[in-house]
Amino acid sequence: MLRVAETIERTDTGRQRRGNEDSLFARPPVFVVADGMGGARGGEVASRIAVEIFEQGLPDAGTPEERLAVLVREANREIHRRSRTEKELDGMGTTLTAAFLDDGQLAIAHVGDSRAYLLRDRVLQRLTQDHSLVDELVRRGKLTEEQAAEHPQRSIITRALGPEANVEVDTWTYPVRPGDVLMLCSDGLTSMIGEDQIAGALVETPGLREAADRLIHEANDAGGRDNITVVLFRIEDVGAEGVEQPTMVGVPVVGAPPSSARTSPAPSLSGQGGHGELTGGSARAVEAAAGSITPPATGRRPGPAPRPGRRFAKPVAAVAATVIVLALIGSAGYLATRQLYFIGTDAQGIVTVFRGLPYDLPAGIRLYETFYVSGVPASLVPADRQPALFNHHLRSQSDASSLIRALERGQLAR
Ligand code: CA
Repeated sequence: MLRVAETIERTDTGRQRRGNEDSLFARPPVFVVADGMGGARGGEVASRIAVEIFEQGLPDAGTPEERLAVLVREANREIHRRSRTEKELDGMGTTLTAAFLDDGQLAIAHVGDSRAYLLRDRVLQRLTQDHSLVDELVRRGKLTEEQAAEHPQRSIITRALGPEANVEVDTWTYPVRPGDVLMLCSDGLTSMIGEDQIAGALVETPGLREAADRLIHEANDAGGRDNITVVLFRIEDVGAEGVEQPTMVGVPVVGAPPSSARTSPAPSLSGQGGHGELTGGSARAVEAAAGSITPPATGRRPGPAPRPGRRFAKPVAAVAATVIVLALIGSAGYLATRQLYFIGTDAQGIVTVFRGLPYDLPAGIRLYETFYVSGVPASLVPADRQPALFNHHLRSQSDASSLIRALERGQLAR
């Protein structure tokens, strides 16, 4: 039977931040790292709420993945609620990466850009995909891993706990073996040192304690620009006699995650109320953020309606487009595009709510996604209402929702 043999956790403010907005929870067999952000003390509060909810313990019912996801969604609701009711916490959010060892399987739940890694046979594999803008661009082949690692906008995340009433939680299960070392960490580690350096620290040190100390030290040496949190734990077989920590010597290898690590952990999405469900719950005031958005000079403002699926195969333009996308989204601020909605029509001419910004850029980069397809063809919208409805005005989710509901009920006559 597999169990957690040894756990080490470290969190460090780093060299440039005044406070530490990371929180962690390490009570085998459950482990959590949360990296908060927003407001004067919002980040600290958000990440603490997230781990406090884990302190209550996992619910009894459900698969390990479901039991983790239930708590992650509960944390999201609580952070969202408090950000709406306490002015100084407005806009707070947090990442969250949680792991739960159960019956030889490691269940992981993940939102944001904290990460889970597995060190097995001296090979380091990343188990999570960042919900970040640059990772999205890497997945689409617009940036290389190396470019992403250096990118000035790499800290912009596209998913977090707090900003919206519901959150999509990626969960999956990974089989573990005796001797495996797992690491959860915040981006204050991975934005400072590379994966080969992380692998080196894990492989070349005599134990987890030394490895954790070395990781914190090296991230600080590299600048320590952010809070650094590391949770390490090792799996052993309790049936085995005289279990010793495997001597961690040898040449560190950073593995491209095996295809299984890319595809099977490929997030079996168990988010509740995900895309397509139009709730009026999130009435964030996003107009202020929208006000700072300037259409990119070379961007395409889609015609009367964006045509999701349109592709421009111009690799040369990709770099320029990427810069524009990142500059645009950077100016709009943290998570802004996840909070912006506009109304248009889809390729079939159906009135649709899109999430994001109403632009197609060259090289197939789209700044929006379909959020909700209504039951109403655009041709049924009264002509005098069409300009106001389809002007791609950026709206809050609740504003877009109520407009579409009115439209679906035939109440948009005037
Ligand atoms: Ca951070």
